[in-house]
Amino acid sequence: MSGVVVAGGGPAAHRLAALLVRYGYAGEVTVVGAEPRPAYNRALLGSVLDGTLDAGRLSLPALPAAVRQLTGMRVTAVDRLRRTVRTSDGRELPYGVLVLATGARPRVPRVPGLTTAPGRLAEGVRAVRTAADCRPLSEGPVVVLGGGIRGVESARALRRAGHEVALVHPADRLMDRHLDAAGSAVVAEWLAGRGVTLHLGRRAGEYVPGKVVLDDGQVLAAGTVLLCTGTVAEAALARASGLDVRAGVVVDALLRTGDPHIHAIGDCAEHAGAVGTTVLRAWEQAQALARILTGRGQSYEPGRRVLRPRTPGKDMVVLPPAGPGADTGETVSLLDRARGRHARLVLRGGRIHEGAVVGSPSAVAAVSRLYLRDEPVPADLLALLTGADGEYAGDGALPDEAVVCHCNNVTRKAVKDAWHRGAHDSAALARATRATTGCGSCTSAIRELCTALAGAGDDTTVEGATP
Ligand SMILES: Cc1cc2nc3c(=O)[nH]c(=O)nc-3n(C[C@H](O)[C@H](O)[C@H](O)COP(=O)(O)OP(=O)(O)OC[C@H]3O[C@@H](n4cnc5c(N)ncnc54)[C@H](O)[C@@H]3O)c2cc1C
Repeated sequence: MSGVVVAGGGPAAHRLAALLVRYGYAGEVTVVGAEPRPAYNRALLGSVLDGTLDAGRLSLPALPAAVRQLTGMRVTAVDRLRRTVRTSDGRELPYGVLVLATGARPRVPRVPGLTTAPGRLAEGVRAVRTAADCRPLSEGPVVVLGGGIRGVESARALRRAGHEVALVHPADRLMDRHLDAAGSAVVAEWLAGRGVTLHLGRRAGEYVPGKVVLDDGQVLAAGTVLLCTGTVAEAALARASGLDVRAGVVVDALLRTGDPHIHAIGDCAEHAGAVGTTVLRAWEQAQALARILTGRGQSYEPGRRVLRPRTPGKDMVVLPPAGPGADTGETVSLLDRARGRHARLVLRGGRIHEGAVVGSPSAVAAVSRLYLRDEPVPADLLALLTGADGEYAGDGALPDEAVVCHCNNVTRKAVKDAWHRGAHDSAALARATRATTGCGSCTSAIRELCTALAGAGDDTTVEGATP
C-alpha cells in the first residue's frame, strides 16, 4: 500500500491525518501543506487581526509522529495513471489514496485598483485567509467590503478595537443570505449604534491608495480595505488533473471524486451541490473520510449545523435549511426592535427546519439545541422566541447537557468537570476540552461560565484576558 497523501495543510488535512492514525490506518500518511507552518485554526484569524487573540493560540494539537508533514510545499501536479504527485520542490510522492484538502481562497471583487496584477492585492487592501494576513493594520479608517457574516463580525471587532470603520455592502440589507429584512434591520441598528458607518445598497467603484470611491461618487477615506467578499474553492489542482469541478471539487457520498483513488474534503469539496465554508463541515468530512478509509464508515452524511456569528453583545444563530423540500412550512416570527431582538423560525411537523435568532442569548441557546437535536418545539412558542422558556431562562440556567462548543461538541458539563479538575481559565479549558478551538464563537460563553463557577464559591482567580 502506498498510503495516503493529503494535498493541503489546513484544518481538514490536520483532522484527517490525526484520525487516520487514531483509527489504526495501516499505510503511511503524508500531509503536504503550502504554508510555512503546520495546520492552525483559520477560523480564529479574525480574533488575531483585531488583537483579542495571540497568534500562538491558533495552533492545533501536534500531529502524531507517524504522520509525515511537509510544510512550505505545494502539490503541483497529479499523475493519475502512475498514482504519484509532484511537489513544488521537485519530489515525486506515490499514493494509494490522494486526498485534496486545498481549501479556499478569498474572492476578490472586480473593482478597479484593488489588485495590481491577477491575484496580487494593492497596497492597503487586505483579505484575511492566512496567519500572514494578520499583521497590524495601517493607520487610518478601515473600509470593510461585504456585509455577510464575516463582514459584520469584522466591522464590529475592528470598531471595538478602536478603528474607525465603514462597511459597504451591495445589497440593501446586512447578512441578506441569512436574515430576513427585519432581522437585518436589527443587526444594522446594532452595528450603527456601535459606531460602524453603513453604506448599504452601494458598491465600491474604485480604489486608489487611501480612499474608496463608491458607485454613487461618495469618497471614503481608507487606511485599509478589508475584503469580506466570500471565498472560492481552491480547485486548480483538481481541474488540471481532469477531475470534475463545479463550484468545488465534486465528490460523492464516499467523498470521492470521479477517480476512485482521489477524494476531496473541506472548503475545496462540493458534496451534494454544496461547497463547505465552515471548519465544522471540514472536520466532519475529515472524520467521515477517516472512517471510510479505515473500514469504519460506509458513507458521508452531512449533519445539522448552526452558524454562530462572533458578534459579542448581540448573540445570533443562523440555522441553514435542513434538507431539501419545496414546502416552506409554518413560519413564526417575533420582532422587538426596541430591545434589538428578532427571531424567525420555519417549522415543519412541529420541528425547526430553518430560521435565525438575533439578540436573545437564551433563545439562541434553546433554538440551537432544538434544531441540532431535531426535537419538537414546545407548545409556548412565544416563550421560546423571547427566551423566556423555563429551561433556558438566563445563561446560568443552561442545563448541563447543553452543548456550549458546537464545533467540538463540548457540553456545559464537560466544561464544568474540567474546571473542577483545575482548568480555571479559557486557555486551560481549551486544552482540556477543546472548547473555543473551533470557530471561537463560544469564547464569551466559556468566559462567562468561568466567572460563574469562580463566583460559586471557589477562590481561584479567573483569567480575563481572552478573546
Ligand atoms: C477570517 C476567517 C474567519 C472564519 N471564521 C469561521 C467561523 O467562525 N466558523 C467556521 O466554521 N469557519 C470559519 N472560517 C472558515 C474556516 O476557516 C474554513 O472552513 C476551514 O479553514 C476550512 O479548512 P480546509 O482545511 O478545508 O481549508 P483551508 O483552511 O483553506 O486550508 C487549506 C490549506 O491547503 C493549502 N493548499 C492549497 N493548495 C495546496 C496545494 N496544491 N498543495 C499544498 N497545500 C495547498 C493552503 O495553503 C491551506 O494552508 C473562517 C475563515 C476565515 C479566513
